[in-house]
Amino acid sequence: MRDSIQVEIIPACSDNYQYVISENDCAVVIDPSDAATVLKYVDAAGLDLRAILCTHHHQDHVGGIEQIKDQTGADVCGFRDGRIPQCNRFVADRQKLAVHSISFEALHVPGHTSSHLAFYCADGASVFTGDALFAGGCGRLFEGTAEQMWHSLQKIAALPEQTRIYCGHEYTEENLCFALSIDPDNMLLQARLSNVAALRSRGHPTIPSTVQQEQQTNPFLRTGDAALRARLGMEQSTDIDVFAELRRRKDRF
Ligand code: ZN
Ligand code: FE
Repeated sequence: MRDSIQVEIIPACSDNYQYVISENDCAVVIDPSDAATVLKYVDAAGLDLRAILCTHHHQDHVGGIEQIKDQTGADVCGFRDGRIPQCNRFVADRQKLAVHSISFEALHVPGHTSSHLAFYCADGASVFTGDALFAGGCGRLFEGTAEQMWHSLQKIAALPEQTRIYCGHEYTEENLCFALSIDPDNMLLQARLSNVAALRSRGHPTIPSTVQQEQQTNPFLRTGDAALRARLGMEQSTDIDVFAELRRRKDRF
């Protein structure tokens, strides 16, 4: 891991996060929904924005692309399915993407959308998960099955434990309230929720979490946990059936 790689969190819309990753004066933005806030930060920091990485095509993740591309000429990188505006650099599962000195690996993580990507930056010990894995939760299944999403989340969970997770929205407190409703005796979860509630009461982001924290407290990664299964009355079910039930319950929470 290189300490010279920095991640800046730039809030946008009501609860979206855009991320600027930089090393020296080279910068990359992930999921820009609002061009003005991104360009303002990049200018003030004296950064040269070389690439725009898109996790998926939803408007709240691509809204700023056109203006940023116009003003900086940055490459637009994403999955090749024609839904990301101005996309000129296509990446597929496990493909490496180098932007000057900063390297990413794309992970195809379908479920929220069929073409959703996460971007893993090993040198920065960080993964950018969009609306696939959230802190304490996961995205809704708009274009995929529970089985696809479960496998997608497992892919992210398989990264090194200390990997920091930067997701697309500030949904953590609500996610952890749901988690606690089905995993009430999990002490790490109780502690995490009180920590997150304190951050939110001061208006601070709850991002990043880590792979380890998610494994310990995110119910969607804990489908094998005996206490959680007992709570659902699903001791004999498959992981994917447990996941599907959790997702159904969260949709109604
Ligand atoms: Zn989305
Ligand atoms: Fe979103």
